[in-house]
Amino acid sequence: MTYPTQPKASHFINGKYVEDTDGAVIDVIYPASGEKIAQVHSATPAVIEFALSSARQAQGAWAAMTGTERGRVLRRAADIMRERNHDLSVLETYDTGKPYQETSVVDATSGADALEYFGGMAATLTGEHIQLGEDWVYTRREPLGVCVGIGAWNYPTQIASWKGAPALACGNTMVFKPSETTPLCALKVAEILHEAGAPAGVYNVIQGLGDVGAALVTDDRVDKVSLTGSVPTGRKVYAAAAAGIKHVTMELGGKSPIIVFDDADVENAVSGAILGNFYSSGQVCSNGTRVFVQKGIKEAFLTRLAERLKDAVIGDPQDPATSFGPMVSERQLGIVEGYIAKGKEEGARLVYGGARLAQDGFYIEPCVFADVTDDMTIAREEIFGPVMAVLDFDDEDEVMARANATEFGLAAGVFTRDLTRAHRVAAGFQAGTCYINTYNDAPVEAPFGGSKQSGVGRENSKAAIAHYSQLKSVYVRMGDVEAPF
Ligand code: NAD
Repeated sequence: MTYPTQPKASHFINGKYVEDTDGAVIDVIYPASGEKIAQVHSATPAVIEFALSSARQAQGAWAAMTGTERGRVLRRAADIMRERNHDLSVLETYDTGKPYQETSVVDATSGADALEYFGGMAATLTGEHIQLGEDWVYTRREPLGVCVGIGAWNYPTQIASWKGAPALACGNTMVFKPSETTPLCALKVAEILHEAGAPAGVYNVIQGLGDVGAALVTDDRVDKVSLTGSVPTGRKVYAAAAAGIKHVTMELGGKSPIIVFDDADVENAVSGAILGNFYSSGQVCSNGTRVFVQKGIKEAFLTRLAERLKDAVIGDPQDPATSFGPMVSERQLGIVEGYIAKGKEEGARLVYGGARLAQDGFYIEPCVFADVTDDMTIAREEIFGPVMAVLDFDDEDEVMARANATEFGLAAGVFTRDLTRAHRVAAGFQAGTCYINTYNDAPVEAPFGGSKQSGVGRENSKAAIAHYSQLKSVYVRMGDVEAPF
């Protein structure tokens, strides 16, 4: 079978596709079949140099345009992205294995939302005037310069857009390196931005593994690094950026709690737990993988969950009827199988699924463990796969202490009909993104990001502007200057 997936070339730099076959080959594997569907080459030093010098060269003129002009480019890109939603979604499904049922409503669409939102905001970015008697200070909101974006493999279009849109709105240029597991979609984001009128060099994409990411992060011409990835990678990238005192945004991993009190609407709580564990086959950073269920509602919750999971349609992800696709790679599938074995070994009770499917591709059934305790590996470590751990609890104080007893702090959710308890619990969560009677929404209008080891900085919303720009204060004296001698 042939696939419509081979890109014109590996990299997109200075407004054009660029190839350098001296770079190591990176195979692109379709997770639903295990077949090779494309290949790209890792960036050579010459490619890295070309990308960084192009971004540096383009930055001054891009920043000198008015916000309205820059915003128009981004909004045009949003329109093109929406017009091409079908093709982009098909490609996203080939790149990641996520079902078309998801990609057609979440990936290019949320990328377009970010381009539209920050495109609209570009013209509103201003400083302020601060009166000091007769004298005054004004501030200028200025770009940081060249930003590097480094992506994870679960949302390649979204991550490339969530980083690119605010960076470009503020007058920065970007070099983006997608995950080596999903190298295809970011090239389309670059192509579309260029087609929408972004000058050459404003948004560049280069391929490679961690070594290429590391070369970008340590380059003196780079002013800011925004990473979406795991905590161990975050530690390395943060440290490397610190050596150059560069700005950073770190969107890292999690082991988030969902607390279900026994007054909750069971159907909604089950829906939240399904969304928070099995969407994208569980490969979502903010997933609520520790589901604390109050003892009075536990059996009803588990029974309904098992019934609902039977309705999951596992199969060809390009078929719009499929609601549960494969894992992104053989490697990730192996990691998930290892955690499921550990769960059984450590005494958790397997109540649903967890078996690899006897077919091509990297398929595993959604998996639910009950009677999980806080010390078990599956309750402590990020699995990044469809493995839900259900834990029991008695009262609010106890569950809050246990929910927060983790080094992560990305997200947290609560299901209850008690209004004051819902807000008290949300206030008590040590997490950047919290949900009451819902889970895993991520609209561009709201800040998204983690606390504790889940990250620093925020993406989306007005908050992202602070992470892609800096303020300059200008002091203006209207009278004479007084000096002591
Ligand atoms: P990863 O940490 O293995 O890799 C992330 C990216 O970093 C890749 O592009 C990789 O090539 C690059 N990289 C690796 N080493 C590097 C180095 N030394 N210097 C520079 N770059 C380097 O993560 P992954 O397996 O691709 O993605 C899964 C992880 O991402 C999970 O932990 C998940 O929770 C997290 N994630 C977080 C968010 C969020 O917004 N908080 C979103 C999606 C995924």
